[in-house]
Amino acid sequence: MEKVIIIKYGELTTKKDNINFFIKMLRNNISIALTEYNYDLTYDKGRMFIRSADIDKCVLKLKNIFGIHDFAVGYTFKEKDFEIVCDNVLALVKEKDFKTFKVETKRSDKNYPLDSMQISRSVGACILKNKDNIKVDVSNPEVLINIEIRNNEVLVYFEKIKGLGGYPVGTLGKGLLMLSGGIDSPVAGYLAIKRGVKLEAIYFESPPHTSEDAKNKVLSLAKSLAEYNLDIKVHVINFTEIQETIYKKVPHEYLITIMRRMMYRISEKIAYRNKMHILVNGESIGQVASQTLTSMKAINEVIKMPVIRPVACFDKNEIIKIAKDINTYETSILPFEDCCTIFVPKHPVINPESHLCEEYEKLFDYESLINKCIKEHEVIKVTCKNENKYEDLL
Ligand code: ATP
Ligand code: MG
Repeated sequence: MEKVIIIKYGELTTKKDNINFFIKMLRNNISIALTEYNYDLTYDKGRMFIRSADIDKCVLKLKNIFGIHDFAVGYTFKEKDFEIVCDNVLALVKEKDFKTFKVETKRSDKNYPLDSMQISRSVGACILKNKDNIKVDVSNPEVLINIEIRNNEVLVYFEKIKGLGGYPVGTLGKGLLMLSGGIDSPVAGYLAIKRGVKLEAIYFESPPHTSEDAKNKVLSLAKSLAEYNLDIKVHVINFTEIQETIYKKVPHEYLITIMRRMMYRISEKIAYRNKMHILVNGESIGQVASQTLTSMKAINEVIKMPVIRPVACFDKNEIIKIAKDINTYETSILPFEDCCTIFVPKHPVINPESHLCEEYEKLFDYESLINKCIKEHEVIKVTCKNENKYEDLL
């Protein structure tokens, strides 16, 4: 018997024609995630199969792959005689400790002499005869024994491991995540990746007001996201000159609004240049002055590209729960400053007015400042490989 991972696909896109694209993308994503290991991958319209000497390590990687509904580590063998099937199942269940069980059989080989019900019953009887103190429980068994009689092999597997669901990364195109060092934006990124969006990230820094530690923190968060996104490019924008200019020229209650309008403009330009379709950010309705509905409108109206805000309607504790699940929380709460937290006015405007934003923006030549920082921006590729520490990626 040989060990095999049996993967069931997640939610398929509604159009039937997309299934092949979806499967191809999933296969491609799995091969990137498993690149460090030797493995053999086969698939059909219903499932994918992975054979490898590093099964346990592959399992850990598959837990982070979107587009997988569930998977199981099972066993495969070629001899299909019923006696051999029974012996093999017995050998496998002997090592297991349980009181109740159920056998379920699927038979895609329609020429097999027994039908599914007969196989389940006979294997069940065989187990009852050979193992003490156990009984069948069809409604709530402790162990479910799955048998599949396929054309060229038999599969046996037990418990299924829940996959992440969602769509394979990349099936829905590319988006640009505005990634700060906070709690919300990595969670927003994770949720966008879940729906099949391949992300790049953009980070605004303001050295020397923001430190190298703050940047490393963001790269560390990017590395956590790379586990799901498979790798991630981080566009680092030096925002110092823009921020200092705004600070000098603009009435302070509008600092944040104007600064965020600049961030949106730069993000949209970077996104268009890199063939991305949406911006993604961690804004959450009402969280701070810049996230009131009127603020969001005043900020959003400077660009045309859609902005997806996956956590817009989440409470902070709901966001924190996901951040903990995806291991970004501990990094996010490290106390390094963000460019949004320096130059913060005492009384930021809560209901900014568009005509005032436009008026204040006429006070300086923001177009050329924007073009300059886009021209000079740095791109860092962060990969999901285990052995890389983020410091090695700098
Ligand atoms: P987070 O916890 O995600 O940092 P926040 O509660 O601190 O969010 P804001 O600082 O107002 O809220 O930022 C809202 C969103 O704007 C962030 O979630 C992020 O998507 C984006 N953003 C803020 N600062 C930056 C930055 N320095 N670089 C890139 N994006 C940023
Ligand atoms: Mg923030």
